[in-house]
Amino acid sequence: MKTSEIRQRWLDYFGERGHTVVPSASLVSEDPTVMFTIAGMVPFIPYLTGLIPAPYPRATSVQKCIRTNDIEEVGKTPRHGTFFQMTGNFSFGDYFKEGAIGYAWELLTSAESSGGYGFDEKDLWVTVYKDDDEAIALWKRIAGLPDERIQRLDKDTNYWSTGHPGPAGPSSEIFFDRGPAYGADGGPATDDDRYVEIWNLVFMQYAIENVTSKTNFDIVGELPSKNIDTGLGLERVAFLKQGVENMYEIDQVRPVLDRASELSGRRYGAVHDDDVRMRVIADHVRSSLMLMSDGVTPSNEGRGYILRRLLRRSVRAMRLLGVDGPSFPELFTVSRDAMSASYPEVSQNFDRISQAAYGEEDTFLHTLESGTSILDLAVDSSKKAGKDVLAGDTAFLLHDTYGFPIDLTLEIADEAGLTVDRDAFDSLMSQQKQRAKADAKSKKSHVADLSVYSAFRAHGETQFLGYTE
Ligand code: ATP
Ligand code: MG
Ligand code: MG
Ligand code: MG
Repeated sequence: MKTSEIRQRWLDYFGERGHTVVPSASLVSEDPTVMFTIAGMVPFIPYLTGLIPAPYPRATSVQKCIRTNDIEEVGKTPRHGTFFQMTGNFSFGDYFKEGAIGYAWELLTSAESSGGYGFDEKDLWVTVYKDDDEAIALWKRIAGLPDERIQRLDKDTNYWSTGHPGPAGPSSEIFFDRGPAYGADGGPATDDDRYVEIWNLVFMQYAIENVTSKTNFDIVGELPSKNIDTGLGLERVAFLKQGVENMYEIDQVRPVLDRASELSGRRYGAVHDDDVRMRVIADHVRSSLMLMSDGVTPSNEGRGYILRRLLRRSVRAMRLLGVDGPSFPELFTVSRDAMSASYPEVSQNFDRISQAAYGEEDTFLHTLESGTSILDLAVDSSKKAGKDVLAGDTAFLLHDTYGFPIDLTLEIADEAGLTVDRDAFDSLMSQQKQRAKADAKSKKSHVADLSVYSAFRAHGETQFLGYTE
């Protein structure tokens, strides 16, 4: 089952059951304090928290997500992408626990021939919040799950709250058991490689106050209008349904991995470190493609910096596979072809995306060339001197003069068994910032003239004609 088909089955299933199909929001969240859309519920937050009345009682979406906090997991676990698609169904004061559990179980276990995902019931486990007897009873009644396959866990994994007064509630998660070849049989609470989390159901049920942390608060009552927020990982279902080992081997990702393997002449599946690099490349190229399609461009701060890191990590991983020249023209084209069935916009935007990506690769290849030899020398001489720390001023010189990002220096030093004198580096950085500030101050003696805005205001109300004129 192709990933695009799993996606379509989701939308059909919930669409046929009265859910308004809402298109994915951009990866770039509208909230300027949040970098990226990290979950399917993000665009629905105003409805879920009751800030704005929901325009529909139930909704469904397949949301593009970026999670930068998973970057270190990529390629090492089978299930973490920096980009992934979270499918979700949402109820705003409409159906609650029974409906959410019923839909989830039916979609997962009904036969492929009748529109479902066709999972074998025996392979599924659930976790619930330990005091949520209602959910436990429903899992037994609706799914017929035996006690052994329902694990009761604590608030740290099975409770949702914003960390502020407002709505909160227990959650329940569904896991797929990959079998004894992947680990011991203690259930999801013990082994997340064998038991792969696929679906998270959140039951927004209570009002909380006196909140001191995400797991420490007082429940002050039931919500008058209870909500459902669920999220399933499309790539996770895809890798389990496609009979491959991890999410980097699914139809939307694998072609990039294969191309990296071809370009480097290294076989996937032969050497563990190379495999991780190929998976990182396949993930990062796809994430970059999707970010750039949503308008992010490489830069030195904020979202652009995250993108730059993803691009540079891919370039560097290719180098570690032995490829010194540019490879983005091949990798990005392959990624575009793998993604365009679900996201035709990546084809429409490809000229713009590829120009920026190829430019970034060229610049970084130059940086790497000059910086790497200096770093290699420094690493050598540190080692010869019997030190296991790389001097902070070397890291600073690399950053300041050669544009060598500190995380790259840290990574390369780490591979050579060295740490970096981070304190010294940080203090050189802050000295430099202060110099820049003082410099700017001496050049600029006045602030901008803001009186022009008063003139606008004096003009009175304006009407926006941009949509029609
Ligand atoms: P995990 O414990 O495996 O890191 P999570 O608990 O952080 O997952 P949730 O926040 O519950 O994930 O997100 C809902 C669903 O989205 C998960 O059940 C999973 O299927 C999917 N998902 C979460 N993070 C990723 C990721 N980095 N890559 C792919 N799918 C993901
Ligand atoms: Mg996680
Ligand atoms: Mg989890
Ligand atoms: Mg989860």
